[in-house]
Amino acid sequence: MRTISDLQDQAAGESDIFLQIFNQSPAIEYLLDSENGQIVDANNAACDFWGWSRQQLSAMRIWDINIAGQKILEQQFAETKAGVTNLFIAQHRTASGEIRNVEVYVNPIVLKGRKLNLIIAHDVTDRRRAEDSLRLAHRALEAATIGILIADAQQPDMPISYVNPAFEIQTGYSEAEVLGHNCRFLQGTQRDQPGLDELRSALKKGCSCEVILQNFKKDGTMFWNQLHIAPLRNDAGIITHFLGAQKDISGQMAVSARMDHMAYYDPLTELPNRRLFLDRLTTAVAAAQRNSVFGAVVFIDLDNFKNLNDAEGHEVGDDLLREIAKRLGHLLRQEDTVSRSGGDEFVLLLPAISDNSEISANMVQVVIARIQKAICEPVVLGELQHHITASIGVTLFPKGVESTSDLLKQADTAMYRAKATGRNSVCYFEPAMQAAVSARLTLEQDLRQAMEREDFRMFLQGQVNASGKIIGAEALIRWHNKEGGLISPMAFIPVAEETGLIVPMGTWMLRQACRAIKKLEQAGRPIRISVNVSPRQFRGPDFRDCVAMVLQETGANASLLMLEITEAVVFDNLNEAITKMQQLKALGVHFSIDDFGTGYSSLAYLKKLPLTELKIDKSFIQDAPTDMNDASLVEAILAVATHHGLQVVAEGVETLQHVDFLKERGCPLFQGYYFGRPIPGEEFVQKVLSGPEANN
Ligand code: C2E
Ligand code: MG
Ligand code: MG
Repeated sequence: MRTISDLQDQAAGESDIFLQIFNQSPAIEYLLDSENGQIVDANNAACDFWGWSRQQLSAMRIWDINIAGQKILEQQFAETKAGVTNLFIAQHRTASGEIRNVEVYVNPIVLKGRKLNLIIAHDVTDRRRAEDSLRLAHRALEAATIGILIADAQQPDMPISYVNPAFEIQTGYSEAEVLGHNCRFLQGTQRDQPGLDELRSALKKGCSCEVILQNFKKDGTMFWNQLHIAPLRNDAGIITHFLGAQKDISGQMAVSARMDHMAYYDPLTELPNRRLFLDRLTTAVAAAQRNSVFGAVVFIDLDNFKNLNDAEGHEVGDDLLREIAKRLGHLLRQEDTVSRSGGDEFVLLLPAISDNSEISANMVQVVIARIQKAICEPVVLGELQHHITASIGVTLFPKGVESTSDLLKQADTAMYRAKATGRNSVCYFEPAMQAAVSARLTLEQDLRQAMEREDFRMFLQGQVNASGKIIGAEALIRWHNKEGGLISPMAFIPVAEETGLIVPMGTWMLRQACRAIKKLEQAGRPIRISVNVSPRQFRGPDFRDCVAMVLQETGANASLLMLEITEAVVFDNLNEAITKMQQLKALGVHFSIDDFGTGYSSLAYLKKLPLTELKIDKSFIQDAPTDMNDASLVEAILAVATHHGLQVVAEGVETLQHVDFLKERGCPLFQGYYFGRPIPGEEFVQKVLSGPEANN
């Protein structure tokens, strides 16, 4: 071993150089007496590191600094001497009391005959700390129950560079299977989820974000992934990686969905509850006020439900409520809400019905009629068939700036009024609507009575050809009411149609018309008579038989009977209509399309139907001489009719101007006040029989 004394012996100058190197070395270096641990010398770096001066150090032993203590250090000197090792990890206490980790390299030397150890030490405190925290961080990642993944932001498509065991458990994928892949495989085919845009934009901007995504495990099961991503930057501030921390919150989502459902839905019927109803009502009222559209709140309370409950038990009562809930649900539009607010009470919200209050009111009435019908249908409850009715209260909104609770109160009030008037009735909060409904009900009752008493009259209105000769007539019904007035069909036909009274009424008219045909024919003045056939009448299963029966019973010539139907009747079910018309045609009767032009205006279907005639609606005739559009429409109808070999009757011919206009365009037949108003049937028959053309 070459020692410092050897060197000194060689040349004093070289020894100076050694001292210089020793002192100037940036490494911590010091000399120890291995016999007694005394600090023989220490370089500048060592003094700086410990915070002691050379002088102070010269009075110290190494165990004053190394916290391992004298015994252990002596053992280490022995090990070094024996050549076992010369590298130790030590902890030094500095002058300030701070403990630093050092790596010491012990180099035994002999200096001036003295056995010394030259020690070179490295302060590894910071490195050790960094290593420790790295190790800790790694252990934490491995032990975390949250799934962690790290993606490499500096490589194209950001491949995964790490996933922890929790990620593997969550997804079922092993680390080996996912490393190097972009993590989008977790999305399966769900590539346009709402959270993804946010995620992509955060990745692009290099900021953190949290999203909830639908992800899929390796076995294909879906799970809700609450994913938090954060950028990881290097010392230069450049993003090198993205950290993803993910949690499977499927359980939580299911619970919150269930809680939501419980908070907003009635457990018995699965219908929205009062709370959800109020939410929707608030929205609907605001929208109604904003957009000037009308909606309605309908309160439905089952009649005598308590009796059923008491007599048959709650389970049967519950079954009934569920059945009623189902029926109500089927009746309404998608945007309507049917809710159960408790007991046997259902509340309906019909938002945005129409922007016209009258139309809205009418539509509500139609819905209510359907609801009443649906509730009245017998309910089968096990062995039991139960009939139930409901009392219904209705209010329309917006009237002004009423609150939702005002509206509920109004509907409730109306419902109690309905209850008070007896079972199975409807009351409207609005006086005008209530009046309209009452009037309608009275009309319906009066009409039924009138039907029984045959309080109707057949009026006839002539139809003439271009030379003014009466060639036919239209039978028009009039109601001779209790007060002795004649009521126009416009006022009662719609009600008759809705209630089905139109069927016996239509048969009655048909019989009157056939009798007139017979009478005129017998008197040698045969003319055709047109009878209006309502949609309900035409569609009825017995209509053909009814016509056949009346023809037979009256002995009228079928070829003089013209049945007037409207385009709507034909179009609702074209094939069925054609079949039915052909069956009737086989009896010898003719068909005319009434109010032609107001309906479908599709002329293509004409040739499919066994028709004889078109009647141009009076609304076109009225302005035809002055209005270009109406004029060309009338011309078009005339042309089409000629093309198909059909007769044409112009309705509502009121003036000479109308007559001239129509004649100029070759219209063959006319009906209207200009030639004569509808008059009582017998009077008309007499007029024809005694008329100038009677013997023509
Ligand atoms: P519609 O079949 O189109 O009958 C023609 C209507 O026009 C009749 O009204 C008639 O009085 C009226 N009218 C005739 N000439 C003129 C005129 O020059 N100017 C004007 N402005 N009107 C004229 P009405 O009798 O009030 O009948 C109205 C509607 O009621 C009929 O229209 C028809 O749809 C229906 N209707 C009448 N009677 C019956 C019936 O027995 N059964 C059925 N189902 N519906 C009927
Ligand atoms: Mg008619
Ligand atoms: Mg008409």
